[in-house]
Amino acid sequence: MTEHELELCKLSNAQLPPYELKRITKLVADTKRFVEMYSILPYMREELDRDFGGFLEKHGLNVDPEGMMLLAYEDREDERKMILEAPNKEELIPESVYRFQQFLANKLAFRDRMIDELCKPVNKRMSKWRDRQINRSLAGIGGINKSFVHSPLTIELDKGCSVGCKFCGLGAGKLEKICRYTKENGALFRQILADAHELIGNAAGFGTLYLATEPLDNPDYELYEADFVKEFGFIPQITTAVPDRDIERTRRLIGEFKTRPGYIHRFSLRSLEMAERIFEEFSPLELVQVELLPQFPEAPSFVPFTVVGSQAERVKKEDIRDMDPGTICCADGFVINMAERSIRLITPCHMTDDFPNGIAEPVKKYFDTADECAKLMREILEEYMVTDLPNDEPLHLYPFLERCMTQYGDSLKSRYGGSIFAIDKLSRSYAKRLIALLQEGDHTRYDIVKIIGSEYDAAPQDVFWLLNQLWKQGYIYDSRLFGQRIKGEGTI
Ligand code: SF4
Repeated sequence: MTEHELELCKLSNAQLPPYELKRITKLVADTKRFVEMYSILPYMREELDRDFGGFLEKHGLNVDPEGMMLLAYEDREDERKMILEAPNKEELIPESVYRFQQFLANKLAFRDRMIDELCKPVNKRMSKWRDRQINRSLAGIGGINKSFVHSPLTIELDKGCSVGCKFCGLGAGKLEKICRYTKENGALFRQILADAHELIGNAAGFGTLYLATEPLDNPDYELYEADFVKEFGFIPQITTAVPDRDIERTRRLIGEFKTRPGYIHRFSLRSLEMAERIFEEFSPLELVQVELLPQFPEAPSFVPFTVVGSQAERVKKEDIRDMDPGTICCADGFVINMAERSIRLITPCHMTDDFPNGIAEPVKKYFDTADECAKLMREILEEYMVTDLPNDEPLHLYPFLERCMTQYGDSLKSRYGGSIFAIDKLSRSYAKRLIALLQEGDHTRYDIVKIIGSEYDAAPQDVFWLLNQLWKQGYIYDSRLFGQRIKGEGTI
């Protein structure tokens, strides 16, 4: 970077002169577009090799070729790494690369803030429950869980989805009903938002208005969204597989980021033709807060689908990830469906025969009025979001935990690679015995305390403490969420 560009790096966005802020934003948008095109269009490298400058000109990208090659080319990876790790990296890298890396880092930092802070319910019970589910998901889904925000409230505006993508990671059914924004439905929706806000706090405002639905299926999506923004002050994120269905509508929706706070939107790109159309219709600046997810195998950055439910039979084996997390569910809490007036509790888990969509859904109830919905929310919270170890049922470990030797010695290791619990590192002499009793799965918490107490002369409160730690860690099976488990069975 030049001396001037280096000086600018010391200023926050608010301190930057407006013309510089505008220039840098455009630079990031153009860089992002270049990287996305490179990772989505299978023929782009060939075109670049033929005429790099011509390609940039054709697509109106005002970026430096050296920076773009450094950022995107696989054969420049070692060089990129060397520069990024150099103590004087700011001097070595082009401004485009520096600003783009900064943009990505800020996006990830905000996501992490959502996980740790913004999506944390104010309700203590719900917050503790969510923490335990996040821990359990790390072992039960794998490392990808670190990118799931575990949002506590999601609202579906329709029943089912019209698109039927073969890559659907939520097992969406066919579109059956759309909840139009009538006077009555609008009032119901606003009251539900207000009640959820009161119970969950601002964290309720970081959810979405879709789950196993396509947000753009609802012609009144924007009216619901306006109410949501009024209640929470934040634009709910959309992931749409049909941004090309009505380009001007999509343009208006993503354009809202210019005037109101929001995080990102996502477009799923169903085919190469669709990707080309999106690049043609939307300028780089328009898509600066939109992530593009190529869902077709010709794209160089295509990541095979996470396969759930009936989709498993429709997808070719080579389209499936090696270490498939078995779920894409980022929501962890209440899902309210406006079309059928239902409320359910959900939590992500690895797809199995028992949980074919990679989601456990222990309860679903129906309501007519907002008051009934609010009452159900509180009842579900009390009954299903338990925080303490169950008293009177045998305790056992989740089946995805395997006892084996690791580099840390005797351990519990997650089958999906998310976590290793080093039993050998525990200071308590009875730890192995306690784990063995949990593996047997025949003993209640009181039985375990009694057995350990008689064999090791251990204080009951110490044994309870260790059991509680394992519970909070999400290692002990929660029958409220996954059903009573018959010993030795169950596939979660
Ligand atoms: S991915 Fe989205 S749009 Fe596609 S079928 Fe599933 S819910 Fe519908």
